[in-house]
Amino acid sequence: MIEYRNLKVALLGGGVVGANVADLLLKHADELAGRAGAGIELIGVAVRNPGAERVPAIPAELLTTDALALIHGADIVVELMGGLEPARTYILEALHSGADVVTANKALLATHGPELFDAAERVGAQLYYEAAVAGAIPIIRPLRESLAGDRVTRILGIVNGTTNYILDRMDRQGEDLAPVLADAQRLGYAEADPTADVEGYDAAQKAAILASLAFHSTVPLDAVHREGITGVTLEQVTAARAAGYVVKLLAICERVETADGSAISARVHPALVPLAHPLAAVHGANNAVFIQAEAAGDLMFYGAGAGGPQTASSVLGDLVSAARRHVVGGPGVAESTHANLPMLPIASVVTRYQITLTVLDRPGVLATIATEFSERGVSVEQVSQSVSTGGDAPTASLVVVTHAAPEAALAACVSALAGSDVVASVDSVLRVIEAQ
Ligand code: NAP
Repeated sequence: MIEYRNLKVALLGGGVVGANVADLLLKHADELAGRAGAGIELIGVAVRNPGAERVPAIPAELLTTDALALIHGADIVVELMGGLEPARTYILEALHSGADVVTANKALLATHGPELFDAAERVGAQLYYEAAVAGAIPIIRPLRESLAGDRVTRILGIVNGTTNYILDRMDRQGEDLAPVLADAQRLGYAEADPTADVEGYDAAQKAAILASLAFHSTVPLDAVHREGITGVTLEQVTAARAAGYVVKLLAICERVETADGSAISARVHPALVPLAHPLAAVHGANNAVFIQAEAAGDLMFYGAGAGGPQTASSVLGDLVSAARRHVVGGPGVAESTHANLPMLPIASVVTRYQITLTVLDRPGVLATIATEFSERGVSVEQVSQSVSTGGDAPTASLVVVTHAAPEAALAACVSALAGSDVVASVDSVLRVIEAQ
């Protein structure tokens, strides 16, 4: 019989994720001890309302409302309360008291990450956060450790399950956004207030975390350009499929080489993904992160982006890592911001547009439109025109796909087209992702 040293674990939060972490910790204590090389003892779970029903149930004697007392008796603190405060204060308190911390709190990391990582480094503690991005999918450790010897050039992530569920149903079942969103709320895929998901805030927090890690730099949340999916129409999704694309909300993090050196672009927006791209096959509420690295080439990480047991899996992985570090000692893996690359403004990002226009159907229109692009230095890759409506003032639908050009030039083309005499309306503007 192996005698293990016992490590005390405090859980802050016993909700969707916390209750599953507590359950798995209690059920698999022996197995986890064998893997960690130390006993992992759950000493308590801090909640707001100890009388509330929990699934799975947490033994009543473990529940407390005194989070601080729990923190001060722990070797490892697991924060699963969510929100900025009091989570930030509790994590700082835990680090200052010498505990390692595991958290799933992307909002907190994207907002106060540097402060928390600094506090951890000053006291020689570790902050683990595998569950903060893409739930069950191992992505933080691969970026932080497995790819530490490579140079990541680009990350394309489907990191919000709610929006992927909505866009996937629009694409595969031909439904409008509003009823699908209402259904997603009924099924528990979307919150009663869906703003964080559908407006891209949640994905932007994850983009900030991924870009910081991938490019060894501090990426402030407000430097992440963000557009949500509320403007995406069924017509756009249907036309996209007919043209060989699917519309996805992407978190895009890129290392860009400019005349002044390397820079980072981090942005969240709907994009046309070619059907042949591996991200096009990510259905339902699943997540996926597609990474391009100089030496490794293309990598894709896929799986459940949320859910109690799924997210608990990532939390427990971090917990075992934290326990191993307690056993072995040493400083652990420090947060790396050595590259300190500047952020590239969205106007300078190079991308491709697909623009759908209703134009007057008469001679010379195509030449006029081509001039609007060429005058702004944008070259056109493809133009397709639908059949004319006929009548006294016939119109036709024109779909223009550009070559890659700076966002500012593309946006200038769109506003020039909107004001052009030959354009009746600009019906859709979507960015296009390269096949690979
Ligand atoms: P949740 O179901 O709302 O649970 C939050 C828990 O924290 C509850 O048990 C609540 O107590 C407790 N709590 C909140 N404020 C507290 C306070 N001031 N003092 C003491 N306890 C407090 O949240 P969740 O879905 O488990 O999410 C937890 C974290 O995981 C969040 O950061 C979230 O972003 C992240 N995450 C969640 C998922 C997911 O699928 N749910 C996936 C990835 C990451 P009561 O139960 O008494 O109200």
